[in-house]
Amino acid sequence: MKQFDFLILGSGIAGLTFALKVAPRGRVAIITKKNRAESNTNYAQGGIAAVTSKEDSFELHVRDTLQAGAGLCKEEVVRMIVQEGPERIGELIELGMKFSEREIPGPNGARELDLGREGGHSKRRILHAKDVTGREIERALLSAVAQRPSINIFENHLAIDLVTTEKLAQRGRGAPPVPSPSGIAPSAADSPIALETNRRAGRPPCIDRCLGVYVLDNKTGKVETFVAPVVLLATGGCGKVYLYTTNPDIATGDGVAMAYRAGAGIANMEFVQFHPTCLYHPKAKSFLISEAVRGEGGVLKSFDGVEFMDKYHPLKSLAPRDVVARAIDSEMKKSGADHVLLDITHKPAQFISERFPNIHQTCLRYGIDITREPIPVVPAAHYQCGGVLTNVDGETEIAGLYAVGEVACTGLHGANRLASNSLLEALVCAHRAALKVIAHPLPKLESTIPQWQSGHATNADELVVVSHNWDELRRLMWDYVGIVRTNKRLQRAQKRIANLQEEIQQYYWDFIVTSDLLELRNIATVAGLIVNSALARPESRGLQYNLDYPEPDPAWAQREVILRKPV
Ligand SMILES: Cc1cc2nc3c(=O)[nH]c(=O)nc-3n(C[C@H](O)[C@H](O)[C@H](O)COP(=O)(O)OP(=O)(O)OC[C@H]3O[C@@H](n4cnc5c(N)ncnc54)[C@H](O)[C@@H]3O)c2cc1C
Repeated sequence: MKQFDFLILGSGIAGLTFALKVAPRGRVAIITKKNRAESNTNYAQGGIAAVTSKEDSFELHVRDTLQAGAGLCKEEVVRMIVQEGPERIGELIELGMKFSEREIPGPNGARELDLGREGGHSKRRILHAKDVTGREIERALLSAVAQRPSINIFENHLAIDLVTTEKLAQRGRGAPPVPSPSGIAPSAADSPIALETNRRAGRPPCIDRCLGVYVLDNKTGKVETFVAPVVLLATGGCGKVYLYTTNPDIATGDGVAMAYRAGAGIANMEFVQFHPTCLYHPKAKSFLISEAVRGEGGVLKSFDGVEFMDKYHPLKSLAPRDVVARAIDSEMKKSGADHVLLDITHKPAQFISERFPNIHQTCLRYGIDITREPIPVVPAAHYQCGGVLTNVDGETEIAGLYAVGEVACTGLHGANRLASNSLLEALVCAHRAALKVIAHPLPKLESTIPQWQSGHATNADELVVVSHNWDELRRLMWDYVGIVRTNKRLQRAQKRIANLQEEIQQYYWDFIVTSDLLELRNIATVAGLIVNSALARPESRGLQYNLDYPEPDPAWAQREVILRKPV
């Protein structure tokens, strides 16, 4: 059993920021399933939205966020995150993050932060490091982490499941029955969000506490037990639930699935953001063409070169992402074409190659010179707006369990995320969660967590079952639960997912766990949550577009869909 004061699952912006802030107060373990930089954060291109210019204001950033969120944002959360943004960005710069700058016109050659513009933003407010912002964030945070001896990083370690007092009391694989766990008595006051949401729902206050995590060491194949009074989920999103996604392979919704299995509330999973512009090329797996390309004047055109966005929105190619993704989907369905075009060739070639060096070079590798020809693009699953229900301090309904970043649902994004608000949310909420946990002495955990038990499980005989179910699940989500939905397609998906979940669960019990099997189990859980949440919302709002109810229903404004595992 490995014991720490703070256990962090994930090494993206959320996990690393939290780690740096709690490191002076105790021993920290960061568990991460591949190498330490591999994360959605590492691939972020556009940048971080924050108010740093005199022409901008908090009020405008709040207004833009609320407008994108289509009536479902929690305004107090939006205000806190927007207002605290500039200070957190200042800290990131102090740590060594290098944002792009530009020369201020004038005789003395002074420089200022270069601010980009993206869809839905009324002002230029996106701080960026050329088009590799995420890579620069990971570099800066990881080099700061390397200087803190109290932080231990466990690479190639995949968290399987959370251990909670409640789970210890139940019979389950890896957790044999323990009639009365001797751990600290979980107190309702430990988790104010549980108190609040349970009060609203008329349920008893929080009675559960997180004690640790079972983790698969991918190198040895052994399952280890990590224990800590504070566990942070910073596992990112779930793009891999869909066949086409901009997300890297790590994004299998593990944190949401683990929290759901542990009994935490999961909110707003119907709102999946599809990025309108992913490179369309048979050999490009998931390469994003940043919204900043449209921010700098890139124009969307149909397959045969005709502009079409004026038919859909007054902001044309700079309309909010959901509008653009639906417009592209509709144009592709009408014409039968398998992609549309994004054209920035009217800008000087030098500007394009300097502003978008990564996009320019990557496209060149696929034989497309974006300074001379339009880029073939398609929409792809990009961002999970819902997630583990938390408050702005990252507290979940389970005492001792926190969630920050894409895995969490704070209420900032509502029914649709405003571009570049996610890195901001992760940065601000990781800081707030750290302040929260270090404000009081850490509770002492006295319970012993039983070792993981494999029982009679043997090595899997036919791995084809896992790879087949991976493909089937992701294709079915793309075909039936994509950008435009109907009740019939959702119900069809619901039935098939239930069958797949049964088969996967059987496989999980019979065979020794592998990372592929664990991730498959998680994407199946998350797919089920997305479908059930979509069916629970009888309206179209933000990213949820259902042809059976094409309009928003005012009765559903401000209403979240919250799912919990039946007990
Ligand atoms: C291509 C792309 C471009 C983007 N551009 C922007 C942008 O310009 N601006 C913006 O604001 N947002 C952008 N986003 C979204 C943004 O990058 C993410 O929302 C944000 O980085 C999430 O940070 P995070 O720390 O929550 O999670 P991540 O950065 O995804 O980190 C998750 C971590 O958890 C680990 N992990 C996951 N499951 C497990 C497990 N079971 N066990 C152990 N470890 C696990 C992963 O390995 C990883 O280290 C973009 C996303 C993509 C994919």
